[in-house]
Amino acid sequence: MDYRKKFLVKPGSKVNLNKIDPDFTDVYENKEEALEQLEQNTAKLAELQYKLYSENKQSLLIVLQAMDAGGKDGTIKHVMGPMNPQSCRVHSYKQPSSEELDHDFLWRIHRFAPRNGEVVIYNRSHYEDVLVVRVHDLVPKEIWSRRYEFINDFEKMLSFHKVKIVKLFLHITQEEQLKRFRKRLERPDKQWKISECDYKERQYWNDYTKAFEDAMEKCSTCHSPWYIIPANHKWFRNLSVSQILIDTMEDMKMKLPEPEVDIEHIRLLAIAEEEKARNTKKNS
Ligand code: ATP
Ligand code: MG
Repeated sequence: MDYRKKFLVKPGSKVNLNKIDPDFTDVYENKEEALEQLEQNTAKLAELQYKLYSENKQSLLIVLQAMDAGGKDGTIKHVMGPMNPQSCRVHSYKQPSSEELDHDFLWRIHRFAPRNGEVVIYNRSHYEDVLVVRVHDLVPKEIWSRRYEFINDFEKMLSFHKVKIVKLFLHITQEEQLKRFRKRLERPDKQWKISECDYKERQYWNDYTKAFEDAMEKCSTCHSPWYIIPANHKWFRNLSVSQILIDTMEDMKMKLPEPEVDIEHIRLLAIAEEEKARNTKKNS
């Protein structure tokens, strides 16, 4: 199945998250069935990343957004983990510092945009400025409501400069979120991740849903599309995200650069040098 087509928020279309099933797993019935495909996909992604890096002419920006416990960290670990750290970066956006708040909302975002050849993942992003900021009235509506337009202009500018943008919303149910919080509470190695706020934020679920729907409706564009990923099943989330990234990168048509030196000439040099080394070894 073409997940890019299936999960795309078509530019200009309405979004109703309640109508999109977070439990969807396509033809796969369980994790074991999907695992082999995921392994193949991550290997393919590493290959494509190598091409992007060596070509050094364009870049990839992956924007990850979700409700709390939606699986951003897990997606980074399982899908992007096998990539080469030499040309891959993750930037996590937390509450803005006072210095960041003294600037326009895109200032801290643009600084970490990818350079040629790089893959960058934004773990949360400029979309927080029309999500949490809107839900909690952190700035007046007159300000946040203008931001969709600024975001579209900013992303258009990036894509003009050969930054390919893929925006992924990991879609889970409220029940699944509660289960994941419980797991964090029970597992000593996960307890550091849970806070009172996580439970308190749940009362704003519908407000967040509305804010996400609006953001995706207003900011899914041809050059910077949003995808809604069914994410209740982590294994299907990983599989479909990896597939979307592969399809996106294949469309980028990267080319390995042609060598700038005369390979035949260097091959002759190599033969002579190897011969010399053999003789030295024989005579010693
Ligand atoms: P996890 O999902 O694993 O808990 P996290 O991404 O939620 O990880 P936290 O440190 O728990 O990491 O939360 C970061 C917080 O920063 C979130 O509550 C988010 O809403 C908030 N935040 C991010 N950007 C902004 C922003 N521009 N304005 C206000 N709050 C923001
Ligand atoms: Mg959190």
